Parts: sequence; structure tokens; C-alpha cells
Amino acid sequence: MILFCKKCLMPNTRPRVQFDADGICNACHNAEQKLQIDWDDRKKQFLEYVERFRPSQGPYDCIVPWSGGKDSSYIAHRLKFEFGLNPLLVTFSPLIPNEVGQINRETFLGLGFDQIMVRPNQKVARRLARRFFRERGNPKVAWDAGVNTVPVQIAVRFNIPLIFYAEHGESEYGGRVLSEESKKIRDFTEVLEHQIGDDPRNWVDDEINEHDLAPYIYPEQSEIDRVGVKAMYFAYFFRWSMLENYRYISKVMPFATEPKGRCDGTFTNFDSLDDKIDNLYYYLQFIKFGFGRATRDACRMIQNGQMTREEGLELARKYDDEFPQTHFNSHLEYLGLSEPEFHAIIDQHRNPELWEHRGNAWKLRYTLE
Ligand SMILES: [Zn+2]
Repeated sequence: MILFCKKCLMPNTRPRVQFDADGICNACHNAEQKLQIDWDDRKKQFLEYVERFRPSQGPYDCIVPWSGGKDSSYIAHRLKFEFGLNPLLVTFSPLIPNEVGQINRETFLGLGFDQIMVRPNQKVARRLARRFFRERGNPKVAWDAGVNTVPVQIAVRFNIPLIFYAEHGESEYGGRVLSEESKKIRDFTEVLEHQIGDDPRNWVDDEINEHDLAPYIYPEQSEIDRVGVKAMYFAYFFRWSMLENYRYISKVMPFATEPKGRCDGTFTNFDSLDDKIDNLYYYLQFIKFGFGRATRDACRMIQNGQMTREEGLELARKYDDEFPQTHFNSHLEYLGLSEPEFHAIIDQHRNPELWEHRGNAWKLRYTLE
């Protein structure tokens, strides 16, 4: 039976989320625990780590995996201008780059940063996106592997052991936390298991060989150990809120938002702007797990005390089921699908516990409440 967290709006259909006996999800518990954190102490820990792990030679102090969005730009900006570090920004190219994201990247780089952008073989990227859209209802499986792998490959190649990721998704948004340590230092086994689901070496087929998969294959453990790569979550050391990050970045540069005023499926206009495929990705979450992009955004704000559950509920009801029309033609073209083929794949991924076919249409079996 589908249940919604009594504090936020997250349903128990979200993979790995846990509910307590009172019907409260673990992301809400995590948010509550965060109120007890001594942030001055965390900042001290941060400064200690930086001193311990920054390289003694070379121009860069650390790597920031950087999309050009509000979160990674916020991190890079603070590292450089508040803490005097010189971060190297590493970008794994979006599948279908969105103009808004490109504008923001250019503006931010203009503030004074070095960037490496990796754009993998597009024939391979498209083939994998199409395959995983069909097989798993997620065109971003390979991209997830790339975005997790490329910064570590660069860290190894350039001898820059320190990497700052944003937040630990499993504890921030509801999931399975392997250990207290994994909220601070990134555990790649967890990433592989939870986000990617298998080893990219398994993706070899009659048109893709192992060399084609190089951007997706994590470096050998011996190389990681040689450089001593430490991938930390910035959100462990400093209070984390996507709304606050957006406010911060808007103060330091003219941050471009979704020109239509809000993104498909939600009420926000400042998040996930760099890849046109994201609108489809969030819609598929709604199809498979019953929570759309508006629920996702509202939960984050409710947990941070920036919105009431009632306000969130109203927004989720209004926008969650909205079809990602804005970039629909780009999605079809990129995935090489006709409209009927596309819809047939979507319908295959409808969770039968959540959806029923009534009359001529798909209806949800439950109401969000
Ligand atoms: Zn909750």
C-alpha cells in the first residue's frame, strides 16, 4: 500500500526510503538531527581536512564536480572566495545541453575559474541513453556513471586528491545510509549500487566495446590509493539547502532561470537547468514511483522549514503529473523514437500498484494526501 510521510510528502515507493512506526520518513529524521549539529565544529573539521589533503604541489587545491547549476557553483564560489582555495571545475557534459545551463556556466567561469569539460562519444552516449530508457525507464543510467567517474579519473590523472561533492543523497532525501562516515566521505560502492545499478563493463554489446566505455569506468582501486583520493560531501560541513544555494548564487552573478517561469512538472525555476533530458527523468520517477518533480522539490523545502506540508501538497497535486512537453521533441530526436514508441515505453514502466488503465486513460489508484 502506498503511504506518504506525515511530515513531508515522500511516498514509501521511493527506492530505499524507510518509514518509522509513526509514518515519518528517514529524510525528515535526518533533517531534524541536522538541527542539533554544531556547524562551527563542522567548519573546523572542514578546515582540518583541507589542510590534510590538499596537494602540496600543483596549481589546484581540489576538484569540484561542476554542472554549472546553483549547488555546485555555490560550493566552488565559497571554496575560492571564502576559503582561498583554487578548485578545478570538472564537468561531465549533459546528454542534451540546455541553453540556460550553458549561459550560467559561461557567466560563472567569467568570475575566474578553470574548467575541464568531458564530452563523451555521443554515439555511445545516445545508444546507452536509449537502451536504459527502454530497459529501466531511466535514460540517465550511463550518465550517472560518467558524472560519478570522470571527476575521480581527473583526480587520479592530475594528482588532486581532494574532491568536493554536494550532498549525500541517501541521507538528505531518504535512502539507506551505510554508515555515519558515508555521510561525510563518499563511498563509491554505495554510488555504484544505488545510482548505477551495475558495472559499466557489462554494457559492452555488438556496437560498444570496452574502450568506448572509458568515461564510465571507475579507476582501479590501486590508482585511487596511490593518489589518496578523498571525496567529501560539502553538505556535511555546511548547512545545505537548495533554496539558500540559489539565493547565494543569485547574489554573486546574474543566474539565469527557466525562461518559461517554472520547469515542467514543478513550481521551481532554478534547479536542474543544464540538461533537457532532466524533465523526462523526473516524469519517469512519477511513472515508476509515484512522486513527481513538484513532490521532490516540496519535500526538500518542507524538510528545511521553508514550506508547510499543506502548501507542498497543493503544489504537488497541481504539477506532479505534468507531461514534460517543453523539450519533448528533443527527447524524441535524441532517443531516436517516434511518439507512439516513446509512449509505449513509458506505459511499460508504469508501476501497476500505482496505475490502472480506466476508460481510455491511465489513472493513479491513490490520491496524494
Ligand atoms: Zn518525510
